[in-house]
Amino acid sequence: GIPDNANLDWKKGPCRFCGVGCGILVGTENGKAVAVKGDPNSSVNKGLLCVKGYHQIMCIQSKDRLETALVKKNGKYVETPLNEALDLVASKMKESIAQNGKDSVAMYTSGQSTIPEGYIASKFMKGAIGTNNLDCNARLCMASAVTGFLTSFGADEPMGCYEDIDHADYFVTWGNNMAEMHPVLFSRMLEQKAKRGAKIIDFATRTTRSSTASDKSILFEPQTDLAVANAICYEIIQNGWVNKSFVEKHCSFSKGLTNIGYGLEDNFQFTDKPEKIDFEAYKEFLKDYSPEKVAKYSKVSVKDIKYLAAIYGDPNKKVVSYWCMGMNQHTRGTWINNLVYNIHLLTGKISQPGNGPFSLTGQPSACGTAREVGTFTHKLPHGVVMNEKDREMAAKIWKVPVERIPSKPTYHATEMFRAVDRGDINFIWVQATNPLVSLPKTSRYRPAMEKKSCFVVVSDVFPTPTTDVADVILPAAWHIEKGGLYGNSERRTQYWQKMVDAPGEATADTWMFIEVAKRMGFEDLFPYSKENHVEEIYNEYRQFHEGAKHGMAPLEVLQKESGAIWPYVDGKSTQWRYNAQYDPACSNGEDFHFYGKPDGKAVIWQRPFEEAPEKPDQEYPFWLNTGRVVEHWHTGSMTRRIPVLHQAMPNGYVEFHPDDAKSLGIRNGENIKITSRRGSCTLPASINERGLPTKGQVFVPFFDENMLINDVTLDSFCPISKEPDYKKCAVKVERA
Ligand code: SF4
Repeated sequence: GIPDNANLDWKKGPCRFCGVGCGILVGTENGKAVAVKGDPNSSVNKGLLCVKGYHQIMCIQSKDRLETALVKKNGKYVETPLNEALDLVASKMKESIAQNGKDSVAMYTSGQSTIPEGYIASKFMKGAIGTNNLDCNARLCMASAVTGFLTSFGADEPMGCYEDIDHADYFVTWGNNMAEMHPVLFSRMLEQKAKRGAKIIDFATRTTRSSTASDKSILFEPQTDLAVANAICYEIIQNGWVNKSFVEKHCSFSKGLTNIGYGLEDNFQFTDKPEKIDFEAYKEFLKDYSPEKVAKYSKVSVKDIKYLAAIYGDPNKKVVSYWCMGMNQHTRGTWINNLVYNIHLLTGKISQPGNGPFSLTGQPSACGTAREVGTFTHKLPHGVVMNEKDREMAAKIWKVPVERIPSKPTYHATEMFRAVDRGDINFIWVQATNPLVSLPKTSRYRPAMEKKSCFVVVSDVFPTPTTDVADVILPAAWHIEKGGLYGNSERRTQYWQKMVDAPGEATADTWMFIEVAKRMGFEDLFPYSKENHVEEIYNEYRQFHEGAKHGMAPLEVLQKESGAIWPYVDGKSTQWRYNAQYDPACSNGEDFHFYGKPDGKAVIWQRPFEEAPEKPDQEYPFWLNTGRVVEHWHTGSMTRRIPVLHQAMPNGYVEFHPDDAKSLGIRNGENIKITSRRGSCTLPASINERGLPTKGQVFVPFFDENMLINDVTLDSFCPISKEPDYKKCAVKVERA
């Protein structure tokens, strides 16, 4: 409720929450943020916001912000001047390096960090200290999308943009409850459904709000999406729906290793061995995936498999596939990404308005910060540590000796916390994320973080279960209190300026990194001014793109407009990559050019169906699936402080199919204990309420820190991406 006559100063920026990246206008008055509304000039959301975006003002104004640094002394937190706390952080980091070497210190950051924060974290850890012990929480949500893109196309991030919604005839959502996770994009899809008769097909393991708003809902048995995707390709080939000229000109075929493990043991190593194959070998492989064979174990009918194949196979219909965690948080996450690309490549339905595969993100800058700047252990800004030329470029721009940047990646997220558990990491700085709610199998990693062998620093805006185990808590500024840049799901980089002052001593994380780096003797490498460091850092980051096909828009453009989509070439955003009609970086004279691959061809991968690491059995007879709800953003550390959202969704719950509830004698609201081989969690039952799992499955949202379902989940991961699978493990349920 913003009064019409309110005389507010409205400033533009992106929403703080999800990867859709909606534009917001923040109303300020007397130096305080007092209102938020959708930006009607934003091409992303055209003025619309979801409940989280609209109510974020209540979160910014929340009374329990962290405003001062807290240092643990004799088991109690003591308010400490920020300067002293930063002195202590720097001395502990130095001490750990002196005693146990550079690889004894680590940093765990976030897809909520701004682009300058991610850039400085990378420069600090890799360029100044000389360790690759930097990873981020995007490993838990987007890593399989990255490896999917790299293996299929040789370059990360989607090729299309949100404008695809305005052109598609069909939207196929793969394991993706967009109505709750990406509500503004889903609204845009519903608008096209109403206006043009576009159809939404929901392909998932449970019935959700997205399913009920769709034209058709198709359910599959967990893990068998791999087989169904292959069956769709089988049908496309059998029916002669392959776009032969596209495949011949622009695709190659490969296979990799199979039976590749689940990453359950410490120090798990995996290296794939890709091998070229031809179309005939691929066709032969698909013989095991006829609809009749796959229907037997996927629980998808032959008719529905053929229906899906016919949608993709119809040359006169445009199709966009959307997915997010359902496919990425998968022990075969890279493979299932590859398999959806196969469908679009075989039919040539790719990177044209209304046609294409589209992997969505969950955090506001999972793309901009984690994937583009590079806060993964293997990444450098616009490059990777394994590539000598990329290391040389980083060394030149950072003005450090190239030998200082190690050439081997170290710990990905799960393995980083296993290293803390083993005592191999003695200092960790966690920034803008809440791993003790979000890591799978927190029943192992919470005790690990409480061990005396590791000094823990956490910077955040609010207290969380992760700040609870910190030796030092640093008060962080909210995004509108510091300025920055985010990169959203459609490769759009958005800039905003600081709008209001942060409370107390709360400070931009970038500035806290810089201050600690200076205290460690690296002042020459971080010569930025406090007032303009965001702009100075972005301009330095852009040097990595000079002469590259992936140019980022200059700051002057981002200051004027609601973001720009990279590659930004000749003063323009590129909306559809690899398509010569839209992408000036295509240089081989063909209509398409997948220039991320040396031969310019995208790869159609032979990827089999393999079982999940843990399946229901006699002792643990249910599948457990976890996920999110529209009211709360990720671990709920921000949205649970918004009274209206907290009232709407006050606590976690476990969803049952009514038949399962009946046979177990469970009533709605009754407390249920869910137990796996790793831990247990008690929550009220939800039957015939919001979602409907299929029989033999239960679903629990993970936002509630008091009902910690991640104590129960399994820390298995995709061996290629190292992204954990939160969607499948075996549990038993009993009345508590
Ligand atoms: Fe914010 Fe995402 Fe909601 Fe848009 S859809 S308002 S970006 S939370």
